[in-house]
Amino acid sequence: MSTRTRTAETVVPFEEVMRRFDPVMGLEVHVELNTATKMFCGCATEFGAEPNTQVCPVCLGLPGALPVVNHAAVESAIRIGLALNCEIASWCRFARKNYFYPDMPKNFQTSQYDEPIAFGGYLDVEHDDGAGGTEVFRVGIERAHMEEDTGKSLHVGGSTGRIHGADYSLVDYNRAGIPLIEIVTTPLTGAGERAPEIAKAYVSALRDLLKALGVSDVRMEQGSMRCDANVSLRAKVSDDPASVEQAAVPLGTRTETKNVNSLRSVERAVRYEITRHAAVLDSGSPITQETRHWHEDTGVTTSGRPKSDADDYRYFPEPDLVPVAPTREDVERLRATLPEPPQERRKRLQADWGYSDLEMRDVVNAGALEVIEDTVAAGATPAAARKWWTGELARRANSEGVEVTAMGVTPAHVAELDGLVRDGRLNDSMARQVLEGVLAGEGGPAEVADARGLELVQDDGALEAAVDKVIAAHPDVADKIRDGKVQAAGALIGQVMKEMRGQADAAKARALILERLGVS
Ligand code: ADP
Ligand code: MG
Ligand code: ZN
Repeated sequence: MSTRTRTAETVVPFEEVMRRFDPVMGLEVHVELNTATKMFCGCATEFGAEPNTQVCPVCLGLPGALPVVNHAAVESAIRIGLALNCEIASWCRFARKNYFYPDMPKNFQTSQYDEPIAFGGYLDVEHDDGAGGTEVFRVGIERAHMEEDTGKSLHVGGSTGRIHGADYSLVDYNRAGIPLIEIVTTPLTGAGERAPEIAKAYVSALRDLLKALGVSDVRMEQGSMRCDANVSLRAKVSDDPASVEQAAVPLGTRTETKNVNSLRSVERAVRYEITRHAAVLDSGSPITQETRHWHEDTGVTTSGRPKSDADDYRYFPEPDLVPVAPTREDVERLRATLPEPPQERRKRLQADWGYSDLEMRDVVNAGALEVIEDTVAAGATPAAARKWWTGELARRANSEGVEVTAMGVTPAHVAELDGLVRDGRLNDSMARQVLEGVLAGEGGPAEVADARGLELVQDDGALEAAVDKVIAAHPDVADKIRDGKVQAAGALIGQVMKEMRGQADAAKARALILERLGVS
């Protein structure tokens, strides 16, 4: 291996590439299943345990140890296959994929080769059409197969955490043998300039689907979901990337960018490779079929190892495991457990809640769908639930760098707060102060309002007196309003609020001001 610097290679601007080339991509996603035990032994799978405490002779590959297939993992694999509109094999085997790597103690990975559990499916992915609407792109699923994860190497010493310059390396086998499903797309053509966005939208939709299935934590940052992005370019012969003429052009040589671990990086890595391929091709050189490493910090990829389609892993059927042969009844029973598809669920909720497309997009982007659903179920109006979770609370979460649901404010709190506003006990600015108190751990909304003495003055006499006083003090403004300049009322409302130390109902104050000035 050579030491490489992370400097950018020459690239061609994306828009220019799109005038001359048609991008093709293939996405391989690995998901760790959330089964309690590993794929072929009874070891625990919990994340974050002391190194090498969740191991046994089977997952350490000790001689004579015999694996047994985890039934729960097979069920998850079948459910994933069904949710991806795949066919489910009625009979399939595991295979040994032989290669040496220190974090793989058996010297082979138990995987599936030409007999995957699921194959021939698709996922319809919604993405922005670039003109304010949404479009559906059908991503072909070539196969979804079962395999096991490897251990993890830790390189100690040196500044980069990589093997180069390290003093020594440690291996943690806790992860070795955790069930993985690898989901492989067909070569995706027809995406044109939207290829990077579609790559991101696909991984995002897949993540939502896996989450809805409840089969994985799908935490990209923790590595329980990882994406390898294959990219190639071919000559562009038509302005319609989905045309028959374009489809007839043979595919170019691909590169495979490994372990891209965030949605944003998937989009950036695909975009970068497209622009890099164009520069290589323009220089007259062929693309080297190889793996590439993605560098989050600099936004570039660097060369990994050469990888040809003919790489010989000496695959052969695993002799220590019986074939997996789900009956049709098993498959139908599992099909009945599939959740409502996330995209349909989103449409249903949007209609129920009366949100605009833009509002719904904000909600989804803020990751607030579930929490809003819970808040509405707890009695808040959909509008108020959206306002709080995508407004004040999202801003707070963002600035603190935490999930919106991890700040100690619950759906029940927000519903209670909304109730206090609707009952006329709090106005908006008071409600915000109450929320501050809840965030500071002072208790639930009603409790905080009591403790901080926040309550709208319900005494109409006091409000009337304040309105009269303010009108008398600002005859010029009052005249404007009398002449029909109703917007000017805002200034007087502000004064009334001040008179009442913020404890007035602004809508009531406005109505009263207009009434007093004879404007309806
Ligand atoms: P590998 O052993 O290299 O990981 P896989 O079959 O698991 O092979 O995955 C290869 C991925 O690359 C698939 O998603 C496939 O659709 C995609 N692919 C194959 N050929 C091309 C190509 N010419 N351009 C872009 N993607 C491709
Ligand atoms: Mg692969
Ligand atoms: Zn084990």
